[in-house]
Amino acid sequence: MSLSKVAHEIGAIINQRYDGTNDSVLEIQQALADYSALIDSWAKRIATKFVDTVSQDNARLWQQTSREMSKELKQLIAQAPIGHVMQSLVHEQIKYIKSLPIEAADRVYDIQNRAIEAVVNGERPEHFTAMIANSGNVTASRAKMIARTELGRATQALTQARALAIGSTGYIWRTANDGDVRHSHKKLEGQFIDWHNPPTLDGMTGHAGALPNCRCYCEVSFSE
Ligand SMILES: [Zn+2]
Repeated sequence: MSLSKVAHEIGAIINQRYDGTNDSVLEIQQALADYSALIDSWAKRIATKFVDTVSQDNARLWQQTSREMSKELKQLIAQAPIGHVMQSLVHEQIKYIKSLPIEAADRVYDIQNRAIEAVVNGERPEHFTAMIANSGNVTASRAKMIARTELGRATQALTQARALAIGSTGYIWRTANDGDVRHSHKKLEGQFIDWHNPPTLDGMTGHAGALPNCRCYCEVSFSE
């Protein structure tokens, strides 16, 4: 199973039951709550695998950048206490995966209310019926967005944990350096950021790579 299959299943649960009535919406809410509980152990496995993979990639990256470091520093990096960081990353992943059916249920409920309002106002509800039928696709793109953002967040959290283990106080903010970089992120390119003082950009606080749809990264600063 994959996240896109989960999205497909959510779409099927909704489409098999929705008939325009409030009763069918209640039935959908119950079925999606059941589904969220059903995928619990699968979500745990997927989340653990995801965080393990990101951690291995991050360790490899550190091996490359630490080639010139002293043996002592290399050892400190290898022994960095990342256990609790990984654990909290896994928990967040599980939460996100299991929230997909719940979010879809809330969305169907909202659309149904708008459809009822439309009928009361003498408008035609077809547009809303089509929106409900499209639920699987909405969930699939939501899942993709979460996966993208979470990859950046997990990578950043592990980089930070390993950097702190060798006494790093901060990093140089690096952008992807192309035309798609947001103005607010571009302004930070090349600037030193304290690990304990992440910047607030466009109303959101976070380090390079840990903000939604952010492709920036932390160039760890350290001195031996
Ligand atoms: Zn960025």
